[in-house]
Amino acid sequence: MSTPPLYRDIAQNLKFEGLKCKSCGYVAYPEYHRICLKCGAIDQWEKVKLSRTGTVHTYIVSYYLPPEFETPLPLAIVDLDPPGGRIYAISTETKHEDMKVGLRVEVDFREIYHKDGLSVPSFKFKPLRE
Ligand SMILES: [Zn+2]
Repeated sequence: MSTPPLYRDIAQNLKFEGLKCKSCGYVAYPEYHRICLKCGAIDQWEKVKLSRTGTVHTYIVSYYLPPEFETPLPLAIVDLDPPGGRIYAISTETKHEDMKVGLRVEVDFREIYHKDGLSVPSFKFKPLRE
């Protein structure tokens, strides 16, 4: 049995690391594949530090979640600033009525709740205060 992705990728997520294609510069995150999705190069990756700021690509507002979550809760796909990469994150300090495509955000990877002796981490975002 393989380890769930959440725990398999935890070290990578905590370090905010992705892979950058040495051939075309595409940033892959998460790093599951050998072939570059943009140019087709094989095994041409180097580790790259991801940005902790980005822009909301799209989002939903969830009203029905387990009791550990306060709803309504915005969930977003965030395009990270250069070098790039795209993550799925839940909101913190963000009212659902303030959500919009293009919202500038800062992201973090940390525990979202603790249950039955297990720490459950995830990417979180909040509006960027510039
Ligand atoms: Zn490439």
